[in-house]
Amino acid sequence: MKIWEKAPAKINLSLDVLHKRPDGYHEVEMVMTMVDLADRLEMKELPRDTIMISSQAGYIPLDEKNLAFQAAKLIKDRCGVERGVYIHLDKNIPVAAGLAGGSSDAAATLRGLNRLWKLGLTVDEMMELGAELGSDVPFCVCGGTALAQGRGERLTRVASPPACWVIIAKPPINVSTADVYGKLRAAEIKRHPDTSGLLGAIKGRNFSGICDLLGNVLEEVTLSLYPEVRHLKACMERLGADGVLMSGSGPTVFGLVEKETKAERIYNGLRGFCKEVHAVRLLTEPIC
Ligand code: ATP
Repeated sequence: MKIWEKAPAKINLSLDVLHKRPDGYHEVEMVMTMVDLADRLEMKELPRDTIMISSQAGYIPLDEKNLAFQAAKLIKDRCGVERGVYIHLDKNIPVAAGLAGGSSDAAATLRGLNRLWKLGLTVDEMMELGAELGSDVPFCVCGGTALAQGRGERLTRVASPPACWVIIAKPPINVSTADVYGKLRAAEIKRHPDTSGLLGAIKGRNFSGICDLLGNVLEEVTLSLYPEVRHLKACMERLGADGVLMSGSGPTVFGLVEKETKAERIYNGLRGFCKEVHAVRLLTEPIC
């Protein structure tokens, strides 16, 4: 028996850090959504009780450090499954890019193995398991568009933004999320995104309002550390994207574009100097 599961990338339409908590974590408020740039996972039962991972991407771990491996181990242990699985990851989402590729692979593994092994877990149960693997995993289990609060684990589903194109470009640098958060001085943030305004624009299906209210407090940190991200953002703005923002802790920058012809023009313009560029649709339907 063999199944496939899609693992779409996540982008942040807003990312705010409210304060640093006494427990050391940051209290965040984020609006997250998904785009049609996805890894594809093939899962196949194995006769032996073991977990095997392979991938065409040479630059990700294929052992217990892989988040899909960790998800498979977790669901197997918790549900007392004594069968093995072979998971092949067809990676399309840029790695360490602020697009939650690893988290989405973990979430897809939970959904897929729930099906393959007929475990009967509810979406909430899979999200709870996902929370043990990383703060982005619960959102990646259900997809759609959501407001994340607390450490990012408290999710409220919201309506999806109107359909549009998303141009995704990653400069050839790796950014460590821990490094960026470590350098952020929460008390000194100059401009917080207007999260409730953004949610209002999404609810009202006001595309230009959404574009105007995109905001990410981590941009200040990443842009000051990596001028190439600042340059990429400026290029996307110059090429005419309706709204431009860095996703997560970067270095990926995305642009929202309403018209296909404009999306094509921006895609072609960026390809001249950036190798990793994608033009995809925003996913307006939740995964489950
Ligand atoms: P986030 O937006 O959640 O911070 P990210 O997009 O910045 O995530 P990932 O692509 O998830 O980052 O990769 C982060 C690290 O996790 C990489 O250094 C990689 O080695 C490791 N990793 C583990 N499992 C995977 C996986 N299945 N796919 C990609 N990277 C993985």
